[in-house]
Amino acid sequence: MSEWVVDARGGICHQCDSEYQRLAQHWSRSKHCSFRDLSDAQHEAIRGCLVGDGNLDNPNDGPPALRLSSMRRPHLTWVRDQLGWLVRED
Ligand SMILES: [Zn+2]
Repeated sequence: MSEWVVDARGGICHQCDSEYQRLAQHWSRSKHCSFRDLSDAQHEAIRGCLVGDGNLDNPNDGPPALRLSSMRRPHLTWVRDQLGWLVRED
């Protein structure tokens, strides 16, 4: 059995001052706000997922996503913390 990491951190967008539940989703829907660049640490975490347990998917024919499932919740929590705003609930 696998569990999905839930990102419910929310916050305020620094570009438009509006509230968001998930920053990546806010940016993908906004006409005015733009994504920030990925950090080196995020690139490395993504690379680690792709050579490990992760796979690329496009759930519900939506935009491509890196999907990661694990029996070990602490592992998913650690990856979530590494990826920060890139993580979404699924
Ligand atoms: Zn914004």
